[in-house]
Amino acid sequence: MLRPIVMMTALALAATSNAQPATPDQLQRLMAGNARYLSGQSTHLNQDHARRAEVAKGQKPFAMVLSCADSRVPPEILFDQGLGDLFVVRVAGNIADSNALGSLEYGAQVLGARFLMVLGHEYCGAVDAALKGGRAGGNIDSVLDAIAPAAGRAKADPAKTDLLDRAMVENVREVLMAISKRSPALAGMAAKGELKIVGARYDLDSGAVTPVTAGK
Ligand SMILES: [Zn+2]
Repeated sequence: MLRPIVMMTALALAATSNAQPATPDQLQRLMAGNARYLSGQSTHLNQDHARRAEVAKGQKPFAMVLSCADSRVPPEILFDQGLGDLFVVRVAGNIADSNALGSLEYGAQVLGARFLMVLGHEYCGAVDAALKGGRAGGNIDSVLDAIAPAAGRAKADPAKTDLLDRAMVENVREVLMAISKRSPALAGMAAKGELKIVGARYDLDSGAVTPVTAGK
């Protein structure tokens, strides 16, 4: 079992005129859902016909998740959420490229989401490939290039255990930095307390999501 790493980063964010404040409620709601999932007591709320009809008229997701495309990490399942609850951006390595950032800006500024979780996960194949340093050819390389700085930092760390997990965590930190540097919209909302951004780690073995802090 890998040690839990909790890096919680709250980059405040500043946004649009009628923005609601970020509150602790969104994180609590996500973690409560993960607790239900962990204990085998998922409610599958908001997944029925009535909810489908309700959200067909419009969406107001309470949180955004930037997670890996990995088939084992579906946010709606591991947080026990339903239709219209989460605005999810999934891309290999949960990297923050311009399309991902644009999607998240839409979720925050237009849809009104006030919480963003960058979710890395145990045994991430994209991070593993970046650590190995090979070239895959085609567009896969752009994913590997995005993860390479985090992989390099993990390799340079004198700690020799759990290299893959440390690189995954470094990648979450890298993405948090990328959001603050390359998305003035999200960073501005964070600075005003209108958006809370956290990093987290999903444990494939246990099913637990562990909020994480940025940096060491
Ligand atoms: Zn992955």
